[in-house]
Amino acid sequence: MLARDFVGEARRLFETDDFIPLHAPVFVGREKEFLMDCVDSTFVSSVGKFVDRLEAMVCEFTGAKYSVAVSNGTTALHIALLAAGVKSSNEVIMPALTFVATANAASYCGADPVFLDVERETLGLCPMALRKFLEEQCEVRGDKCINRQTGNVVSACVPVHIFGHPCGIEEVVSICDEFSVPVVEDAAESLGSKIGQKHTGTYGQLGTFSFNGNKIVTCGGGGVIVTDDSDLAEWVKHVTTTAKAPHPYKYFHTELGYNYRLPNLNAALACAQLESIDNFIYNKRELADRYRHFFDGRSVDFVEERSGSASNYWLNAIILPSEKERDKFLETTNSAGVMTRPVWELMPQLPMYQHAQCYGLENAEWIQKRLVNIPSSVRPKELLGL
Ligand SMILES: *Cc1c(COP(=O)(O)O)cnc(C)c1O
Repeated sequence: MLARDFVGEARRLFETDDFIPLHAPVFVGREKEFLMDCVDSTFVSSVGKFVDRLEAMVCEFTGAKYSVAVSNGTTALHIALLAAGVKSSNEVIMPALTFVATANAASYCGADPVFLDVERETLGLCPMALRKFLEEQCEVRGDKCINRQTGNVVSACVPVHIFGHPCGIEEVVSICDEFSVPVVEDAAESLGSKIGQKHTGTYGQLGTFSFNGNKIVTCGGGGVIVTDDSDLAEWVKHVTTTAKAPHPYKYFHTELGYNYRLPNLNAALACAQLESIDNFIYNKRELADRYRHFFDGRSVDFVEERSGSASNYWLNAIILPSEKERDKFLETTNSAGVMTRPVWELMPQLPMYQHAQCYGLENAEWIQKRLVNIPSSVRPKELLGL
C-alpha cells in the first residue's frame, strides 16, 4: 500500500524511528560564532555589520543589484508593493493558490487582490489566465492598467514560485509589460531557484524572500527585498527604517514610515545560514531524486522542476489521484509519525477574501484537492558526509 510504503521510505531516508517533521532547520555552520559576536559587540538591534553583510551576500547570491533586509517575508511584500506604486483601492493580481501573506500584503496597502488560476505543471500563476484577464477585463489608459468592470487601477501582479519551483515568470513579466502592470515576485520559497542562470526574484521590478523558520535558510524571522532600481532600493531602505532623515541626534521623519528593519541578531543567523545554502540545495536535490525514484511507477505524480529551470526543491510535493486518496495518505502517514500536509486553502475560501474577484480557478481547485507536501528537511548526516 502506497502510504505504508512511503512511511518506510521516509524512515530510511531520514534514518530515524522518531517523528519526522515536514521541514526543520539545520545549523551546522558558523551560526553560534556569529550570534556570540553580536552579543559581545552589543550590536543586537537594527544597526550592525551583519545586516550590511547579509544584504551584500543576497546581492551576490541572487545577482540583484540592491537588497534591503526586513523583519519578515510578509513585511517585504508589503513594502515591495508600496514601492511598485500600489495604493488604496487599487487591484493586485495574484494566484489563488499561495500562502495567505501574498494576499494580506495587498490588503495592507488598502488594495484588493484579484485571484487567477495556476498551471498544473509549475503550480504557479498561469500566463494564459493572466493574458485572458488583462485582455478581456482590462485596458491601458495612459500608463495605467484599468479594470473596466470596477474602474480601479491594476497596479501590480505578484507571481509566486510555489515550493521553490520557478513559475513561468518570463511570460508573466512580458505580458505584464504589455499592459503596464509592475511585477513584484513573491520568491519567499525560492531562494536558490533559477531559470537558466537568472535567479527567481530578479525578473520583476522588485522581488521578496523570506527567512522564516520553515524556509530553506532561516534566521528565526526575516526577509529581504531585491531590486535593480537604485531609487526604489533607497526608498525601501528609508521607509522600512521609520523614514527617519539622517541626522546625528535629531528626529525628523519625512513620511509615514515603518519599523520593518531586520535586527543584527537575526541577520547574523541569516549570514551563517547563507554560507550553507549551496550545500543545502545539493542535499535537497538529492532527496528529491530519491523521492522521484520512489514514486516512479506508482499512481502518484511527483512535482518536478520544469526543464530549463532549477528548483531549490524547498518543499517536495506529490499529487494523489483523488481527494479521497489524498485524505487516506494524510491520515496514514501522520498517524505513523511522518508529517505530511495538504496545500493551503485557496485564498477565496478564506473569510476575508470570499468576496474577492476570481477568474476560472479550475487548475487551482484540482491541485488543492490532491496535493500533499512530504518531509523535505536537509538531512544533516548526508550534508556532513557521515
Ligand atoms: C513564507 C511565505 C511568505 C511570508 O514570509 P514570512 O517570513 O513568514 O512573513 C510569503 N509568501 C509565501 C509564498 C511564503 O511561503
